[in-house]
Amino acid sequence: MNESPNPTASVTDARPVLAVSGLRVRYRTEEETIPAVRDVSLDLFPGEVLAVVGESGSGKSSVAHAILGLLPANAKLEAGTVSFRGRSLLDMPRNQLQQVRGEEIAMIFQDAQSALTPTLRVGEQLAELFESHRGASEDDARKAAVDVLKGLLADPLRVADAYPFQLSGGMAQRVMIGMATALDPSVIIADEPTANLDPAVRHETLSTLEGLRDQEDVSVLLITHDFGVVARLADRVAVMYAGEIVETADVRSIFRWPRHPYTFGLLQSLPDMHRPGRMATMPGHAPDLATLPPECPFLPRCNKATSQCRTEPAPRLMPVEGSDGEHMVACYNPIAVSLRGD
Ligand code: ATP
Ligand code: MG
Repeated sequence: MNESPNPTASVTDARPVLAVSGLRVRYRTEEETIPAVRDVSLDLFPGEVLAVVGESGSGKSSVAHAILGLLPANAKLEAGTVSFRGRSLLDMPRNQLQQVRGEEIAMIFQDAQSALTPTLRVGEQLAELFESHRGASEDDARKAAVDVLKGLLADPLRVADAYPFQLSGGMAQRVMIGMATALDPSVIIADEPTANLDPAVRHETLSTLEGLRDQEDVSVLLITHDFGVVARLADRVAVMYAGEIVETADVRSIFRWPRHPYTFGLLQSLPDMHRPGRMATMPGHAPDLATLPPECPFLPRCNKATSQCRTEPAPRLMPVEGSDGEHMVACYNPIAVSLRGD
């Protein structure tokens, strides 16, 4: 395995709850193989929100799915370790992993409607969690299910009796957050929790996520395109490009002085920092992962490239000078001036 430094390790002495190291995922299709995750390492510390940001196809969901053993059949986990409180998730027997997934690490999926079981009423789905994981009686499980909904929705009894198709998008989103958090997990992986939501629902969902963030000892791995969400929720940020983390820092440093030309470009292309839905997009195209050249994958879109960038292998993550190792960037010619000009 690759001996890359861990890009999202904090300088604090706290031990990570979740530690991912040297992760590599490749998908096989009939035409090609796609190296979707190329040596990703990250640490999630107790109580923090670590945002993983990047354009569509950069490998964010693949990282999340690999962590939780949810990769599809055509994916191969080629290398890497995932450690949760010191236990290896990748080597864990299936039944134990399922238990960890329900009780200790929860996943909030992007598409709430399709993540819920269509043939079961919402209350039954929630109650089932308490019955199977906590050994609750049917009555107690039902009460616990309604209690979860009470904290999230105005009409919990009606929602408990509804089938998923009878819920609005926003209600389904909150039910899913309720399901994910019902058993008080210490880690929540939220994959684009605010994508495709109208502004009012987005706002409510963000408030719910803020409530989770403010709970002590809950850590969130927040996957998003949306820098508004990053600004509101994240403590630290890891920027992904073409299957790799290319920059990581605390959230203030990322916004004030992004060092990678890709991060700089994403932030510069934001139309309005105070408008909802500020998506991570910029001119040019993400590279074809199946035919990546050995040099920096951002080279064709980069206006900072030097001859070193054209002749040497892709740069590795290195600490930014003067940052105590908390800010790291994979670039031979990082941005030399802050976005604010200081
Ligand atoms: P988005 O923001 O659109 O959700 P993402 O950053 O989550 O994107 P992934 O879904 O992890 O990106 O995809 C990374 C790469 O892997 C993409 O090129 C994608 O096309 C490819 N990929 C993902 N799932 C599969 C699959 N099941 N089979 C083949 N290729 C896949
Ligand atoms: Mg995704």
